[in-house]
Amino acid sequence: PGRLYVVATPIGHLGDLSPRAAAVLRGVDLICAEDKRTSQRLLAHIGSKVPMRALHDHNEREQAEALIDQMLAGQALALISDAGTPLVSDPGFRLVRAARERGVEVVPVPGPSAVLAALAAAGLPTDRFVFEGFLPAKSGARRAALNALAAEPRTLVFFEAPHRIVAAVADFADLFGPDRPAWLARELTKRFEQFVGATLGDVLAWSQTAGDQLRGEMVLVVGGCPDAQRPVEVDVQQLLQQLLPLMP
Ligand code: SAM
Repeated sequence: PGRLYVVATPIGHLGDLSPRAAAVLRGVDLICAEDKRTSQRLLAHIGSKVPMRALHDHNEREQAEALIDQMLAGQALALISDAGTPLVSDPGFRLVRAARERGVEVVPVPGPSAVLAALAAAGLPTDRFVFEGFLPAKSGARRAALNALAAEPRTLVFFEAPHRIVAAVADFADLFGPDRPAWLARELTKRFEQFVGATLGDVLAWSQTAGDQLRGEMVLVVGGCPDAQRPVEVDVQQLLQQLLPLMP
């Protein structure tokens, strides 16, 4: 029967492609890739001659049904993105959802993701965390999003583009306070991998003077709001029920 393999690929270091991922990418009938040129390097590296089809946000909806027909006819397909795990701030959600709806088996081939790589090495609590993806690009919308997260007790993970990092971290430090624990993970698994921390103030000071180092790919990991700083939540109903009998 046909299948859809959702395959994680390296976020920098080619050695992070798992043997199972390589075997799948050599063995399927078709590979759906976010960008064929980017993925061509990876396929050449593992000696895969499987044909590729571009699948990105702009054509995913129209491509999905035909791809599912192919799988229902018995073909095995692999879905990859430019780097890391597909669907994580990357295309693929519509295809996977449609595959599930039409009864195509979907098989994950797990591997690298910048989210977990940054989280696992930042030294902030990992028992519970929230992944927020990319924040809005404009300051007003970004500050509104950050305000809604300021009291979040779980560790927070964000993607950010290098040309926005100074403005974004300035908003973070302003709204969360400069003493909030935070680590900026840069160029993970690559030659110039770097972790900058240990507070939002430190990350801000670094980013304001980093110059050339302000390039590359970045994940920001921010500690959750400490209990002592969280606004007290009042259950008004309950409070009224307790107070009413006491009223004259
Ligand atoms: N699906 C990918 C994953 O699972 O890692 C994420 C795709 S998203 C479009 C790209 C963003 O991921 C980058 O802007 C950056 O924030 C982060 N990222 C990807 N590779 C990275 C790396 N090697 N080091 C740091 N951040 C990375």
